[in-house]
Order: sequence, then structure tokens, then C-alpha cells
Amino acid sequence: MNSWPSPAFSALKAGLTLPTLQLTNTKSNSVEALQIKNLYRMYVCGITPYDATHLGHAATYLTFDLINRYLQATGAKVSYVQNITDIDDPLLERAQRDGQDWKELATSQIDLFRGDMFDLRILPPEHYIGAVESIDLVSASITELISANTIYTIDKDYYFRNYSSSEFGRLSHLNESEMAEIFSQRGGNPTLAGKENPLDCLVWMSQRPGEPGWDSVHGIGRPGWHIECTAIALKYLQPDSSDASCIDIQGGGSDLIFPHHEMCASQARALTGKELASTYVHSAMIGLDGEKMSKSKGNLVFVSTLVKSGVDPMAIRLALLSQHYRLDRMWSSDVLDAATLRLNTWRRAFVSGGRNCETTIDAVIRALSNDLDTPTALAAIDRWAEESSETEVEGNDEDLRQVIDTLLGIVI
Ligand code: ZN
Repeated sequence: MNSWPSPAFSALKAGLTLPTLQLTNTKSNSVEALQIKNLYRMYVCGITPYDATHLGHAATYLTFDLINRYLQATGAKVSYVQNITDIDDPLLERAQRDGQDWKELATSQIDLFRGDMFDLRILPPEHYIGAVESIDLVSASITELISANTIYTIDKDYYFRNYSSSEFGRLSHLNESEMAEIFSQRGGNPTLAGKENPLDCLVWMSQRPGEPGWDSVHGIGRPGWHIECTAIALKYLQPDSSDASCIDIQGGGSDLIFPHHEMCASQARALTGKELASTYVHSAMIGLDGEKMSKSKGNLVFVSTLVKSGVDPMAIRLALLSQHYRLDRMWSSDVLDAATLRLNTWRRAFVSGGRNCETTIDAVIRALSNDLDTPTALAAIDRWAEESSETEVEGNDEDLRQVIDTLLGIVI
């Protein structure tokens, strides 16, 4: 599937050294320095295309965009893969509710998402892969899992034994009963008759009446969500056999830690004998006016709606960067107004000719290297803009403009 056009992205000026990027690894629950490499492999879970792109999505992809930008600015290459779950229960349920063809719904939402990502200046993935176009790939992975004796069937559905690996549960840090409870809330059906273990997950669902299905060696049906991501990540990121883990970063929203990423990791261990990712990164949730933002509450705020109403996408970007990516946070018109004001202040400072900016550049880079500490990075630019407005001295501010563009993705 086509991704979206890339915004302009340029390297930083020569001589600028970037410290090793440190990120919170969900698995170790600590901030760790990434290994220094020439090539990083990053997989970020994509949308199920029925409600794109709300601000929770935007915040997630923005987090990984910062990582992508930082690593590329160090001179490394980033191989970035994202999927689109363009067939799954929630998509079919929404299409049925609205009396819409599921394919048309998916296509329209994917188009919207691509437009939103472009507006927000998110660097596109190298491979943008849909579930439907990956049926054969996923099916082949299920065959491998069968060979590894990690699969059983219930009627014509195929289930994966998540406890094939003793590591299961160590990403989410949840015990068995906690996992079962969340699994139940998120469609995992732990009490289904015939399951060997309540936490086993569906990898191939036989075709249900009135639902689409694809032919495969496992019968006509469709893939489960977890195996979709596992198979796509392992195929398109082409793990290096000399690396300890298959890929460097697996990411998504914090609501994906369990069951999704825990189960992908378990499947990857069964397929490769290795940990899926050396670092698991999760972006926190966005609420609205004091409430959790969710489909069920009907209080989602969409990027496209804001942009259509005249909001500068750079202000949306800046608003989402104003707090740390690991902090569950609230969206409100005040947050957006503050970001618009900040953006205008920065722009005025550049128009009027800012002060020299070496210390500010240094502060921005150091803050970003420290687990993407955007509040501290933005505060450093605020101080520079404030001092610029108080001085008549003109300096060279082009390098700072470049840093804001390249690392924060914001066009001044
Ligand atoms: Zn995924």
C-alpha cells in the first residue's frame, strides 16, 4: 500500500553531535541508551481504519516521528514499517453499524489518515503494509508456528499458545489473572470452550456468515491481529541474524502493551527464538477536557476536523509535543491556544532576527536525547524567543530554525 508523501527533511549542519538517544523501554521499565548502529529497524503498529485520525493516533505517530528524525539526524538509516489493519472485527462492526461497505470505509479512512500524517509532517514509513495484502505472508507464519507445535484448532479457528515462551507476561509486567481480565475486555475471549489456556490468541479465524474471507492452507478466513503485525514486522524489516533481537524498536500507544505487543513478542520468539524488539516504546493516552478520549464516549477529536476549521497543523504538532510522550494527558482548546501562541511567538522571534542560538540548540538536542523530553526542549526555545524580543542584537538563528525543522518537525 502507498504511504504518504514525505515532508522535506534535511540533515543538521556538520559538526553538530547528537548524544545517543535514550528511551524508556517498557520491558525493562527503565530509560536505556539505544545501541549505536548504522541501521535501525522500527515497527510501529498502524491504525484500524475506521476512526482516523484522532489526536491519540496523532500523538503516537508523532512520538515515533521524533525517534525517526533523531536517529536519521545522527546519520543512521531508519528502516521503518507500519501496518494498517484493514480487516478486523472493529472495522466490520463499524461498517455494519453505519450501513457502509467495509472496504469503502477502510479506503476512505486510510486516505484521511495519509492526509493527516502529511499535514502533521510525519515522515512516512518505508513500507506501509495492509493486512489484506499480507494474507499469504501471515498464513506462511501460521504454518511455521504449526511446525513449532505452538498452534491448535477449535473448530476451524487456529489458536496460538502464548505460553510457548516462558517470557510471556514480562513485557506488560502483568500476572496471569490481570492479563485474563484485560484480554476479556479487549475481545480476547478467555473463557471460550476448547481453549487450552485462557490467554491463547486467535491467529486465523474461519470465515463467518456474511463476513469476508480469503483462501489459505488454513481454510477460508482472515488473520488475527497479533500475527498480522508479527509477520509483517519480521518480513519487511529483514532482521539481521547477528543481532540479539529481531528489530530495534517496536512501538505504539500504551493501550497496545497488552495484549497486542505481549502476544506479538511471544509469537516472534516461537518463530525466531529471539526477542522481537530490543526496545519497546509506548506513547501515553490523550484525553479530552478531563475525560478519556474514546470511541465509546464519542468524544474523539480529529486532526482533519481541526485542520479544516483553519488550525495550523504545526500548532497541533506543537500542542502534542508540549507534554511528555509518556504522560497521559488532556487535550483542550486551551492546550491548542497555548501552542498557537507559542508558535506565533517563535515565528515573530525569527522574523525579527534572533539572538545567537548555540546554547539553545545544545539544550534542545540534549532534552530530546533524554527520552524525548519535549517540554524541556520547547522551554529552551521559549527562552531564546523571549530573549530575542528583548534585544536589538542580531545573530545567526538559521541553525536553530533547522534544528526545529529537522528534529521537532516544525516549520517556522
Ligand atoms: Zn501491531
